Amino acid sequence: MCGIIGCVGRDAETLDVLLSGLDSLEYRGYDSAGVALANGSVAVEKREGELGHLKNAVAAGGDTSDLRGPAGIGHTRWSTHGPPSDENAHPHTDCAGEVAVVHNGIIENYDELKADLLDAGHEFDSDTDSEVVPHLVEDALADGATPEEAFRAAVARLEGSYALAAVFGDSEAILATREGSPLVLGVADNAAYLASDVPAFLEYTDRVVYLDDGEFARLESGSWTVTDREGRLLEKSVSRVEWDAEQTAKSGYDHYMLKEIHEQPQALRKCLRGRVDELTGTVDVDALAGLAAESVQFVACGTSYHAALFGAQSLREAGVPAQAFLASEYATSPPPVSDGTLVVGITQSGETADTLSALREAKNRGVETLAMTNVVGSTASRECDRTLFIRAGPEIGVAATKTFSSQVVACNLLSASLAEQGDARDVVEALRDLPGQVQEILDSSRAEQVAERFVYSEGYFFIGRGHHHPVALEGALKMKEITYEHAEGFPAGELKHGPLALVTSETPVFAVVTGRGEKATKTIGNVKEVEARDAPVVAVTDGVSEVERYADAVLEIPETHPRVAPVLANVQLQLVAYFVAKQLGRSIDKPRNLAKSVTVE
Ligand code: GLU
Repeated sequence: MCGIIGCVGRDAETLDVLLSGLDSLEYRGYDSAGVALANGSVAVEKREGELGHLKNAVAAGGDTSDLRGPAGIGHTRWSTHGPPSDENAHPHTDCAGEVAVVHNGIIENYDELKADLLDAGHEFDSDTDSEVVPHLVEDALADGATPEEAFRAAVARLEGSYALAAVFGDSEAILATREGSPLVLGVADNAAYLASDVPAFLEYTDRVVYLDDGEFARLESGSWTVTDREGRLLEKSVSRVEWDAEQTAKSGYDHYMLKEIHEQPQALRKCLRGRVDELTGTVDVDALAGLAAESVQFVACGTSYHAALFGAQSLREAGVPAQAFLASEYATSPPPVSDGTLVVGITQSGETADTLSALREAKNRGVETLAMTNVVGSTASRECDRTLFIRAGPEIGVAATKTFSSQVVACNLLSASLAEQGDARDVVEALRDLPGQVQEILDSSRAEQVAERFVYSEGYFFIGRGHHHPVALEGALKMKEITYEHAEGFPAGELKHGPLALVTSETPVFAVVTGRGEKATKTIGNVKEVEARDAPVVAVTDGVSEVERYADAVLEIPETHPRVAPVLANVQLQLVAYFVAKQLGRSIDKPRNLAKSVTVE
């Protein structure tokens, strides 16, 4: 959940590199931040709250600050053990101040380790689970171990999930390892970096080495090595990252979220490129070649779960039995599987702990797994049998936008690939037109006016049927995530079975209705039910069903195939949530209590 950055070989620039790396990791969510630099001993500065607090503290040290040295580590914390405070912020040190450690994850056996360490005379400064690590290292150093041996000895005693990095007073190396939390190395000619995510060092190098669980890295100026738990040298490949630093900046938009909403046409084109043949109307995705599944189980969380609901529906329509599960519930009561079952984990970051657990559960049961993710080199992509990359590009705004659209399109590719002989041709044609249609919405949307009209409402409801049920859920989730206002999404037919009690003239209802036929007619029936309770209705519609006759406001979308319409409807709802949040002055890109990559269960 937090961010780690490390840098060696930049001499006088170490501190600046660490602080700018922490800036680039802010989007992951954090409640405190700190840095440690090694230069004979370790110097640490850390503060609760925004990065600005840390920067002020660092600046106060002025020219005489001992925050200098060739190697350093930094951290943004998202508390799991002990409240956010200066003391609980990372890095943590041992009693002698000879080693400083940053940690992302949870050390599950820290209670017993801490009891042993307290018995042995160690003194703790924080309530965190993480602080056991520097003290364990200290014990091993006292027994005569080298820093590397001491670090390994400490790690060997840990249970749980961690990405760890350590600097030592009398060493110019950074030592690091991971188990269940992300960590990636950046390598350059005379310097080396490590971070939870590539943007933290992308302005210095685009050459990266992805660490796997159980691997140890040693970074020095001009050299780096990766070893296994036993210390055997591993041959790791160096990949080149295609995203440049410019792509991660806001490009003139007020918020990353708005920028990312506007990137959707381009993101969708990338998702489709080389995967659909418009002439033959067929889908041909390398990652899915030869894939045959008798049934499919999706596992996912949050927005990705809404894409999974869509994926399961579209597969069932294609004749493949499919269900969507919340990843955090999957392992508690695993559904039956057979040889022909495929488990698909949808996770933007590829690091979502709940989804990784569910995928591992599936793997343990001998089932084929597919990751649907945005991040090349992510844990999900490396652990699953196959990966379908959604190719949405970096998403910095915590609230998912373009990645949802790309996930829905990727689900369409999956169902077209698995369908025996379905209507892929119609879907392919609709997918071809989709990026242009999204652009039409972006150019003409009245979402800002709708947001202005309803911004001070008591709550917001979203209804949709069939493929628009996930859109209703996602519309509500986006609204609550970034506006902090109460919002709920329902399958349209469910409204009268309880939630209708909450509907009043102060609660606008967003109804997603496209096409004609029974689904549209029934949803219009539901619209009339809320109208009779004086609720304002906002129709998100292609106009075919004429639902707008019963609506107080309309958000138009172009007409398309029913399996593609959810993407278009959702773009309008993204914009409504964005403009309501903007008018309320919310922290749109970093909503309170949320993090982009949820790496704890
Ligand atoms: N469990 C550690 C803590 O509470 C690390 C949390 C994190 O990943 O930021 O300090």
